Amino acid sequence: MAYPTEWKGSYYDGQSPVPQHVTISVTAVGLRLHFPDHTHTTWNYHELRQTQGRYSGEEVRFERGTGIGETLVIPGPNILLAIHEHGGSETKHFHHPRTRRTRMYWTVLAALASIPIVYGIFIWGIPLLAQPITAAIPISWEIQLGQFVQQEVTAGKQVCQNPKLIHAVESILTALTNSINRLPYQFQVTVVDSPVVNAMAAPGGYILVFRGLLQDTASPEEFAGVLAHEIQHVLLRHTMHLIVRHVSMAFVIAALSGDASGMVAYALQAAQTLQTLSYSRDAEDQADEQGFQLLQQSKINPEGMITFFAKLGKEQPGNAVFRYLSTHPETQDRLAHLKSLLPPVSTTYRAFPFESEWSDITTYCK
Ligand SMILES: [Zn+2]
Repeated sequence: MAYPTEWKGSYYDGQSPVPQHVTISVTAVGLRLHFPDHTHTTWNYHELRQTQGRYSGEEVRFERGTGIGETLVIPGPNILLAIHEHGGSETKHFHHPRTRRTRMYWTVLAALASIPIVYGIFIWGIPLLAQPITAAIPISWEIQLGQFVQQEVTAGKQVCQNPKLIHAVESILTALTNSINRLPYQFQVTVVDSPVVNAMAAPGGYILVFRGLLQDTASPEEFAGVLAHEIQHVLLRHTMHLIVRHVSMAFVIAALSGDASGMVAYALQAAQTLQTLSYSRDAEDQADEQGFQLLQQSKINPEGMITFFAKLGKEQPGNAVFRYLSTHPETQDRLAHLKSLLPPVSTTYRAFPFESEWSDITTYCK
């Protein structure tokens, strides 16, 4: 059967994400590309890699060069038949199957090559682009990562399941989340049975509170202050941003493409990042400010946030137990700023009428 020698395709020069529409002639030695400005060039078969188009329905991709080089995309796999018919012995390598892993990598990379962000990663690196990369990550992917991070952080530890404790924690969480419009996450709080004074937000709305911190809060309002602050780290995507900044290229590519396979390996990296690194000072200020607003719109007295952070600041910074202090130092600026946000007139706030005293509830765990 004679297959046509003229095909239409899109050419990417490896610099710009904008394709050029080209006509492709299949010749004995290579593919001749005809550009809209009437120039042409020949890609010899021996210098091409086929990175996609081994299955029916897939578009065919050829690449030339290293990294994100020049790419040629042809819709449908039939051009391969033409190449084998007209191209001779130089075209045999287009049939060699690659390992699935390599193929997945190049397929995802090639699919993403049309997104300017991915060019940017190669040119400027991940840290500078962490913001737009974070914004492009699908929420569903973030939620799945969060589940794994939560499992990673709680692995080998007891989680508090006392019904009175859970009821109290959930009442406060619900009071906060009910006042948020169009909540993108189903927030969950897990209390870890550990004397460490710490709390952290995993991606996707999974908040982890260590019992030591809970016991350090003097009232539901103080605990609500910490939760409001952590909720804002998630909603403002500080958590994802911190992880993106400090993880590998493979993680970022998987995150952008929504590919969830191998998520467990990323979760380990992500959990380590969250437990060892701090947010920027700007991110902390934002979480304070917007957490404070969240308390107000939830009719929870925001003074609890101020008193808790002030109390935390009186602990010894070097003490390993007070881990939350190392990531959330009480500075005079921080407290002064929070105090300046207090409303000038007295306001009525909600009460949390629990069956037991707060100081007792926080000691319950089993
Ligand atoms: Zn924070």
